[in-house]
Amino acid sequence: MPTELRRAGRRFVAKCPFHADKNPSFVIFKDGFYCFGCGARGDGIDLVGRLLGLRPVDAAREICRAFGLAADEPATPAARRRARQALKKMQRERELEAALQRLKNRVYCKLCLIYQASSRVVAAGPDAPGREAAAMLEVYVEHLLDVLQFSAAEQQLAVLKEWCKCLS
Ligand SMILES: [Zn+2]
Repeated sequence: MPTELRRAGRRFVAKCPFHADKNPSFVIFKDGFYCFGCGARGDGIDLVGRLLGLRPVDAAREICRAFGLAADEPATPAARRRARQALKKMQRERELEAALQRLKNRVYCKLCLIYQASSRVVAAGPDAPGREAAAMLEVYVEHLLDVLQFSAAEQQLAVLKEWCKCLS
């Protein structure tokens, strides 16, 4: 694959995957691609076919599969609508995942601070004021951190629901 796609106006440019390209001379535009270095050209099916070493018909199937479409379905308006919906759903899921990850990071960081604070009290010695409560808190928060790192998504979500209110 081209190492890195860079937007250039309405096109994308990259280093060409088909020749030893020092400067990005490979351009992807709306209907296909063209390399100003080696002259490789074609449409999206040609590109996927050449990159994956597939016949055009298999490349087309691969593209359909990636977008959750039935390969032999004609591109009717309904099929196009389904493709758009599938793409939207994919984007929405990605956004949700990213939002969840950000929330998780925030809760995790704050729990770490609580853990460190309680550890300091515990480490201050047996007579430190509030040591007993701090020791309990330390164990509890350690458990929560474990859940956020290692447990199933459902359990992680339960911790997040409980804690993002307290910590926001
Ligand atoms: Zn090229």
